Amino acid sequence: MGLFSTLHDNSTSNLPRSALAEFQQVLQPNQIILDEMGRRAYETDAFTAYKVMPLAVLLPSSTQEVADITAIAHRFDIPIIPRGAGTSLAGGAIPIETAIVLCLSRMNKILDINTTNRSAKVQAGVTNLAISDAVSDQGFFYAPDPSSQLACTIAGNIAMNSGGAHCLKYGVTTHNLMGVTLVTSEGEILEFGGDYLDPAGYDFLSLIVGSEGGLGIVTEATVMLRPKAEGARPLLLGFETHEEAGDCVAAIIGDGITPVAIEFMDRPAIKVCEDFAQAGYPLDVEALLLIEVEGAPLEIDESLQKIIRTASQFNPVHKRLAKSDEEAAAIWLGRKSAFGAIGRISEYLCMDGVIPLSKLSSVLAKINEICASHKLDVANIFHAGDGNMHPLILYDANKPGIIEIVEKCGAEILELCVLAGGCITGEHGVGLEKRDLMPLQFNEMDLVNQMRIKQLFDPKWLLNPDKVFPIEISKVFQEEGSLASLRDET
Ligand SMILES: Cc1cc2nc3c(=O)[nH]c(=O)nc-3n(C[C@H](O)[C@H](O)[C@H](O)COP(=O)(O)OP(=O)(O)OC[C@H]3O[C@@H](n4cnc5c(N)ncnc54)[C@H](O)[C@@H]3O)c2cc1C
Repeated sequence: MGLFSTLHDNSTSNLPRSALAEFQQVLQPNQIILDEMGRRAYETDAFTAYKVMPLAVLLPSSTQEVADITAIAHRFDIPIIPRGAGTSLAGGAIPIETAIVLCLSRMNKILDINTTNRSAKVQAGVTNLAISDAVSDQGFFYAPDPSSQLACTIAGNIAMNSGGAHCLKYGVTTHNLMGVTLVTSEGEILEFGGDYLDPAGYDFLSLIVGSEGGLGIVTEATVMLRPKAEGARPLLLGFETHEEAGDCVAAIIGDGITPVAIEFMDRPAIKVCEDFAQAGYPLDVEALLLIEVEGAPLEIDESLQKIIRTASQFNPVHKRLAKSDEEAAAIWLGRKSAFGAIGRISEYLCMDGVIPLSKLSSVLAKINEICASHKLDVANIFHAGDGNMHPLILYDANKPGIIEIVEKCGAEILELCVLAGGCITGEHGVGLEKRDLMPLQFNEMDLVNQMRIKQLFDPKWLLNPDKVFPIEISKVFQEEGSLASLRDET
């Protein structure tokens, strides 16, 4: 039985009429999607192998509307799937058949920019890139830069604690968030943090980051703005083996140099990205590192010299420094378009494990062995500087039974990451994709404690249920408040 055997399609809306009547009291007709074609657009996210039709899609335009909808859903026991742009690679925004989708993409206003406080207050549906675009002229930017930044929303980023290529230097979402407005499952509006660093009391803000829509609905966020560096330059280094490239990354970091980004591509990834972006990547190497440093011109030169000196111990066979802004942009376009470019040639399952940097080259070798043992091709492209691996397992969706094989292969890779001292998710979250793998990472007590927190915020388990925790485990917990009976069975 596959991970997702509990999912079913349902093409006729069964939203209770009395609940619909109440939603219609708080929303305009154009904020409620009930027809089958309309709902179909929300039946999956970027984890496209699985699809489930929601009962309805609601499109609120304010925090108060979100609170009203949530209170109604709570009274009628209707599960809610919060959704931003639907770019989750872990199935985080895929509905269940008894749920409504609450899509916040229309809440897309930038509410305030305050360069003195170095903060921007935005509605939940503002896209990641729109924040940097809005403050660029004033010399600022919002640092976390997922490759999906043109589309993905800030609330989706908060829910998944998203990262990106430049997070090596600036940290991921949790390091760049100052405050949120959160609507609870009962429709209460809460504020955590604000327009300043270091709020008093428990650090609830950190609890909300990475909670995958399961603790509350984020309606507004205050994010940190950073001053743009004077300049930045990417360097490409090509190697004949993955080991040399992996060891080079570990040595650069170990030398105390912090480039703004270190990205890794293997031969299959290089070829696909080069075909897509004509970035001038070398096609005759087994591994390519894209390393970017930033700062004033002298600072850039000094960092690059240090990096090249360290890298020379690992026999790079290709070395190219971007000489112009256009060259730099093409180099980054290739990397940032990687998932889309690979999607043009094959279906793929994108894994997202993290490992200690010192294990990079040995884990890479084992990933390739695992994929070969399942007769599956793999393209490796990832944020090497912080050990966030993204093996893309390629498959032909028309082959019967292939999904189960791909999932098994993926599970073995994530188990490998945990055994290497890492974890099962770096930046894409657990969602549906990895919920059954949580026991690889967490013991019974860990899981019980996490579910206690969920229960506290969402006593009826109405917010994004069936995500993050294995179904059987969460059911037993909801019925018994512990996992003791499961333990007795084993
Ligand atoms: C081509 C491609 C490249 C990508 N590259 C990266 C990358 O470099 N780094 C990275 O980290 N991720 C990456 N992703 C994954 C994805 O873009 C991120 O997880 C992103 O944060 C999801 O944002 P979204 O608005 O699309 O959220 P959705 O997909 O709509 O939802 C994601 C999760 O957030 C929850 N959620 C959404 N809105 C709210 C809300 N208002 N309140 C509470 N919970 C909410 C949902 O319930 C769901 O669990 C990539 C995806 C694609 C398709």
